[in-house]
Amino acid sequence: MVIVMDLTAGPEQIKAVQQRLEQYGFEIHFIRGVKRLVIGAVGDRQEITSLGLEIMPGVEKILPIMKPYKLVSRESKGRHSLVKVKDVIIGGNELAIIAGPCAVESREQLLTAARRVRQAGASILRGGAFKPRTSPYSFQGLEEEGLKILAEASQETGLVTVTEIIDENSLDLALKYVDMVQVGARNMQNYHLLRMVGRSGKPVLLKRGFSSTVEEWLMAAEYIVSEGNENVVLCERGIRTFENATRNTLDLSAVPLVKGLSHLPVLVDPSHATGIQRLVAPMGRAAVAAGADGLLVEVHPEPSKALCDGPQSLTPEDFDSLMAELRMVAAAVGRVVGGAACND
Ligand code: PEP
Ligand code: MN
Repeated sequence: MVIVMDLTAGPEQIKAVQQRLEQYGFEIHFIRGVKRLVIGAVGDRQEITSLGLEIMPGVEKILPIMKPYKLVSRESKGRHSLVKVKDVIIGGNELAIIAGPCAVESREQLLTAARRVRQAGASILRGGAFKPRTSPYSFQGLEEEGLKILAEASQETGLVTVTEIIDENSLDLALKYVDMVQVGARNMQNYHLLRMVGRSGKPVLLKRGFSSTVEEWLMAAEYIVSEGNENVVLCERGIRTFENATRNTLDLSAVPLVKGLSHLPVLVDPSHATGIQRLVAPMGRAAVAAGADGLLVEVHPEPSKALCDGPQSLTPEDFDSLMAELRMVAAAVGRVVGGAACND
């Protein structure tokens, strides 16, 4: 932590800052410039933010050196983490491909989607049972009935499952039926929910909030890990910008950036990032080229009839093509797409 003193800071003010820091056990180093004094304080940032230094007379600004997230930081582990969802490993050489419809709409719809994405080589089946929709009049999900259908699809296809939870009640239910829970963009800063998910111990897919900085996203992950749950997978899903030609703006640079800052695996969701079916495959390919550990792709047996996010959903045939393309891109960057396409 660096404390930059004001140009006009007098000896009394400098002494007061020094005493405050020493009182809390910080080691002090003075750096005297031509006009200004800078104080280097070696200690714990968490504590320094509660010292009230910013408002002490003579202090111009405080510059943190350490990152505010600790447990999820790259340096805390020194290597990438692998997150296990039953027999699926996320963050290894093999890409994790999560696919399925935005929402579970019916048994037939989900089972059809599950069979097709499994055939194409997806490793994880998705489907929302609790949908946080912008409009209260839009389809809100089948709730527990949807979770039961997900569990049935998992049993039939052998795919592990992920579903979004929106509160404690949906979390409790999801824990009974699925293998991984998703905290969506809208809930990324629901700190109470993050703690609950952390305590559950279940693998978590943590979407980036659509107006969240990378630091806020990593702090959200820190909430989960600080409760003892290290099984966190990050998912970049586009952020809000002035551009409205696409649903969101895919922040692809966040992938290599976050992989440098954190040891957690990073996936990309090109479906919500673009909102446009024909942009999903190009952005999916780009994400893998940029070093993503996998993708989350919305696939619907009949996108035109989808109750949620049809315009961004791939048909099973589109998804087959995407998977074939991903195999080539993955090979070019030294990765593999798991679950080689099966024909049954
Ligand atoms: C979803 O994955 O269905 C979803 C709602 O995503 P997000 O939270 O990223 O909008
Ligand atoms: Mn969706």
